[in-house]
Amino acid sequence: MFLFSPCSPYSAGEDSCSADKRRKIATLHKFASLCIRIRKIILERKGVIPILVARTSNGQLFTICNSMEPAHLRVLREKQSFSCPQCFGQLILKAGSVRTPHFAHRHFSSCSIYSEPESPRHLAGKSRLYGFFQERGIPVRLEVFIPSIAQRADIQVQDSDILEYQCSPITKEEIARRTNQYEAAGFHPVWLFGTPAPQEEGIRLVRLKAFEQEAATRQGEILFFDPETALFTYVSNLYRISATQWAGKVKTLPLNDQVYPFARPKRLTKPEFTELFQLFEAERDKFFRSQSYKGKSISNPVWRTMYRLGYDPKNLPWSVGIPIEAGALFRCHLVEWQLLAQRAAFDPARLPARVFDGGRTGAEALSGVMRRYKKLCRLAGHAPTREEAISRLYAESCKTVGTLRK
Ligand SMILES: [Zn+2]
Repeated sequence: MFLFSPCSPYSAGEDSCSADKRRKIATLHKFASLCIRIRKIILERKGVIPILVARTSNGQLFTICNSMEPAHLRVLREKQSFSCPQCFGQLILKAGSVRTPHFAHRHFSSCSIYSEPESPRHLAGKSRLYGFFQERGIPVRLEVFIPSIAQRADIQVQDSDILEYQCSPITKEEIARRTNQYEAAGFHPVWLFGTPAPQEEGIRLVRLKAFEQEAATRQGEILFFDPETALFTYVSNLYRISATQWAGKVKTLPLNDQVYPFARPKRLTKPEFTELFQLFEAERDKFFRSQSYKGKSISNPVWRTMYRLGYDPKNLPWSVGIPIEAGALFRCHLVEWQLLAQRAAFDPARLPARVFDGGRTGAEALSGVMRRYKKLCRLAGHAPTREEAISRLYAESCKTVGTLRK
């Protein structure tokens, strides 16, 4: 016998009973959303993968462009049948009012080329970019299969350029793999991201994911495209601070003002470089504050290096924590490797291996950076004023051609 039944109105049981109910409802909700996800995966596996290019019954390639009205496409599908250019399977033309019009395989398809599910954003972006090239009379093809490397390119422009429009995170190794494949096959690949771009324009700190850093290292800048706003965002003139923190210039360009080959960002102006320098000063102060929290013990390698160099955080030469193009080679914070480089008298062999990306960094690249940093130190280190240090660094960094390439 229970003194209190679990749901007795005179006990705390009511609360626990409704909590039980809520838990059951939450479990049901979770189960339902899991079912929806599984169904989506099954549908995708069955070949309901949107594509924009189809073959018509007379053998012509037909590409859905963003300027085509869904109503017009609905009329067209009554008269025309479409098949997959790759597996020849029958395709359905879907032209509703919500999603970008697209084709989908009618039946279960083992079409390996189109095995990657595409997001509505990816589809919309490709469609808009296709329209951009068409309107300008620039030869363009979508979803081009390149047999020699068994790769489907998002967009091929003219004969030699490939645009990879990437809307989901990807590994940096995959960026490197595909880029190398395209180059080996004689193409010039350009990475264009549909992932979220920095929102505010100007000289600013930006957090970069590994794949964005890889694209920046290869292309010199990161290019984003938002199909909803039809805006390109350039993140350029990038200088690394720490593993994810970079500083650079963010600028947008409306699709209608874009040209092809795509506009390239200019190097920084003197006022912009001054802003950048200011950001680096603030980051340098932040770095020393964070080291202070760890204690000022000599066992901290940063304080030990400072002590050996005879430096005080309140009275540092201008050469510590300065922007330098090749910072991508290092693993640790910019201030730390620059202190260690000075301590090592710019000799790469005397640098502790933990500060640079040992596996990927060639000795030659490291020596190059050391030579360059030594030059910047000589120029800025003993400048009589801050303004003079900025002027000298600006003249050296922004008036000569620098590169992020490794
Ligand atoms: Zn197919």
